[in-house]
Amino acid sequence: MTLTPKQRVDQIVENGLCTGCGLCQAAAGDHLIKVQKGTSGYLVPIVSEDIDHATADLVHRICPGVHPVGLPTKLIATDAKVDNVWGPWQRMARTWAGDAHQRHVGATAGVLTALACYLLTSKQVDFILHAKPHSTEPSFGEMHISTTPEQVLQGSGSRYGPTAPLIAIEKVLERHQPFAFIGKPCDLAGLRNYAEEDDRVNELVKFWLTPVCGGYLPPDSTDAFYRRMGVEPEQVTGLRYRGHGCPGPTRITTEEKVVDAHYLDFWGDDESMWDMPFRCKVCPDGIGEAADIAAADTWILGSPNREDSATDLGTNAVIARTTVGTTLLAEASAAGALVIERDITPDHMSIYQTHQMQKKYAAWPRYQGLQDAGRLFPNAERLRIKELAAEMPDVVNAQQRQGTLDRVIAGKADQPTPKPCI
Ligand SMILES: Cc1cc2nc3c(=O)[nH]c(=O)nc-3n(C[C@H](O)[C@H](O)[C@H](O)COP(=O)(O)OP(=O)(O)OC[C@H]3O[C@@H](n4cnc5c(N)ncnc54)[C@H](O)[C@@H]3O)c2cc1C
Repeated sequence: MTLTPKQRVDQIVENGLCTGCGLCQAAAGDHLIKVQKGTSGYLVPIVSEDIDHATADLVHRICPGVHPVGLPTKLIATDAKVDNVWGPWQRMARTWAGDAHQRHVGATAGVLTALACYLLTSKQVDFILHAKPHSTEPSFGEMHISTTPEQVLQGSGSRYGPTAPLIAIEKVLERHQPFAFIGKPCDLAGLRNYAEEDDRVNELVKFWLTPVCGGYLPPDSTDAFYRRMGVEPEQVTGLRYRGHGCPGPTRITTEEKVVDAHYLDFWGDDESMWDMPFRCKVCPDGIGEAADIAAADTWILGSPNREDSATDLGTNAVIARTTVGTTLLAEASAAGALVIERDITPDHMSIYQTHQMQKKYAAWPRYQGLQDAGRLFPNAERLRIKELAAEMPDVVNAQQRQGTLDRVIAGKADQPTPKPCI
């Protein structure tokens, strides 16, 4: 069956691959695509019947849901190392924000906040494009432009809900000012794709920074979390996922009360309980391969424990992938914006981020499972996922492939055709 242009874009959502980044709205224009909360609770593109095939082609080229990409090859320095799991890197280190308040407020140790503030105060950029809590949807994030360190701090912390930092990238580029972009790895991949369409991206985006990302919580699961904590979703006026310590309390605010939960009450006590959108389950790049610097947690095996959380000040693991990133790390440390405890290696990253390593190995057989099911599957570039699968025993790859096919058959990868939530 030949799909219409609208159906081709809808299919990205229906096949569970939309990341909700907002880039398709910016690129196509909001007369053709409007990214907004859909009946599923996610941010989804609502596509006009007027969209043509050329625009649908553009969406498929730039969409990080179906076209995840790693670092452009020209940015991999000749002396950079390339680890098959962890990607291109020049330096890895344990570090935290030099400013105690930034370290406290930040999701882990405030390193991305500290770098953003340093870039502004050292006048290397005019603004930071990143995210902050949404003004009307308490569990969502929204695009945020910071021109001062105070504004940067409004965006500190992780938003584990739908967030579209690229929704107005056209307007951001029209400012013709140099800036730094902080977004999830998939947001960076989308912007790297968009750089192939619009020269202003590489001209103006001077620094590409990312939190390492294991996925966010589906909206239904966030509602279930509220209820577990004794709060009805309609009552919620604010949700701070983490920060104010490491990980800090997950704080639900209503008109009447403030309820603090632990990070483990939110995510579950171990990795098997982590719930996330299908696209995040098959993500080939939670580790921010398209970034100059990616920042992660340093909990052993990826989760905090309740005992240490009360006193943990937070320590980020960072991966500087490019010369720009390595230079920024050194300069920020020399200026006191960051404290670098010590250098580390890919082996350390695999201990801190076991789930990322496992997901990376599983990506290619999972895409084969999607192919078996006749579904769209992400066209991953520069992410070495076939090479990684080749390192695994056939039996493990076969399990991943079959498991994905089973999930699709069970309807676990399906999303409804996008319709606005009204
Ligand atoms: C959805 C999600 C999943 C994550 N999964 C992992 C994981 O598997 N392993 C791991 O080590 N770390 C994970 N993190 C990252 C971790 O929570 C910290 O963000 C990271 O260690 C950086 O810490 P920091 O203290 O430097 O961040 P901060 O100084 O607090 O800065 C965070 C920056 O990220 C931006 N940001 C936050 N949320 C979003 C969002 N949803 N979309 C776009 N930009 C955003 C903020 O605007 C801010 O500029 C995840 C983060 C997110 C948002």
